[in-house]
Amino acid sequence: MNNALHKARADSAVSVRLEGINLSFGKTHVLKGIDLQIEPGEFFAFLGPSGCGKTTLLRLLAGFESAQTGQVIIGDQEVSYLPPWQRNLGMVFQSYALWPHMTIRKNVAFGLEERHVPRSEINRRVDRALDLVSLLELADRRPSQLSGGQQQRVALARTIVIEPQVLLLDEPLSNLDAKLRIQMRHELLDLQRKLSITTIFVTHDQEEANTIADRIALMKDGVIQQNGTPVELYDKPVNRFVADFLGTANFFEGKLDKSGSAWVFQANNGLVIPVDNHSGIKNSGGCCLVFRPQNVKVTVDAKNDSNDTIQFQGTIKGKEFLGSTIRYRVNVCGDDVFADVSHQQGRHLLENGTQVNLGIHRNQIMVVSD
Ligand code: ATP
Repeated sequence: MNNALHKARADSAVSVRLEGINLSFGKTHVLKGIDLQIEPGEFFAFLGPSGCGKTTLLRLLAGFESAQTGQVIIGDQEVSYLPPWQRNLGMVFQSYALWPHMTIRKNVAFGLEERHVPRSEINRRVDRALDLVSLLELADRRPSQLSGGQQQRVALARTIVIEPQVLLLDEPLSNLDAKLRIQMRHELLDLQRKLSITTIFVTHDQEEANTIADRIALMKDGVIQQNGTPVELYDKPVNRFVADFLGTANFFEGKLDKSGSAWVFQANNGLVIPVDNHSGIKNSGGCCLVFRPQNVKVTVDAKNDSNDTIQFQGTIKGKEFLGSTIRYRVNVCGDDVFADVSHQQGRHLLENGTQVNLGIHRNQIMVVSD
């Protein structure tokens, strides 16, 4: 695609806004007070465990569900009461939903034929969409003659050919095997960047969301717990759920307290830990201390005396070899603490029972709400 075309596409990308959304199925309150702004051209992920409401939120955007309160705004237009076919959105379903009796070309052309687009334009747009997903050469096959990844690309081509303002993807990679998923992640991202189209996708796989999304809304029980870039969510989680969902984290139970003008965390295991990052929490209840395993420095002899480092003593209770890292499980005052040490060929692993010193930079310790 040339630069001028790319710029024109980027300029025409639209924002998506959700305001005060509440949606119930009967007595089940599924979406609770959703407010969200997705920027034009963003690749945005709805992430969360099974049943948290992410598919319902996507279907609400598409017009397949209606909320009891709130508004859906695409670009400048409120679309809350428009049916799906008037929203100019393209949705790729988990199942791909391809027509088995039609060729790939016919599958991709179908939406344009339904819209009575002239034949010459259909041919041009179908060729371009198939070219974008690298399937032009297989255009005359039927879906059953394609691999899972190729079928996935047909589903994408069929959606982008109608030139939707917003692309909605419902767990688009879940039917693929692990290796193909990783390959398709890159392809999906490349395609999204080429088209500069606002794209929202649903996944329960945090690695998938982290690798392709510009921003993520992490949901639990119908509530967006936090939204931000993958790094923001990982490094600055607002609560225990976010910290725990995104990767491995160490938690100490206890309470936050003031010591003179400084804040300390009084852990239930007896440790008193000075804290600089407490996410605005000022009350003593309902919080926990969090730090990531890769931020824990493990030493056997040397003790780091820097004021910026919090020190714990512990005993190694176990280890997992993860390839590039060794994850040690260390008993610290009765709590398990995980510490990741990068693995280098030839380096000896520490034995169970070894007394170690754990050091964590103050900046890498947080108190968050429970
Ligand atoms: P998954 O990852 O398993 O697909 P999800 O986060 O996408 O989960 P949803 O499919 O949005 O979750 O479902 C959210 C909740 O709403 C669930 O408790 C589900 O049982 C309920 N639900 C979804 N659709 C309906 C419906 N049509 N009628 C009643 N309850 C529904």
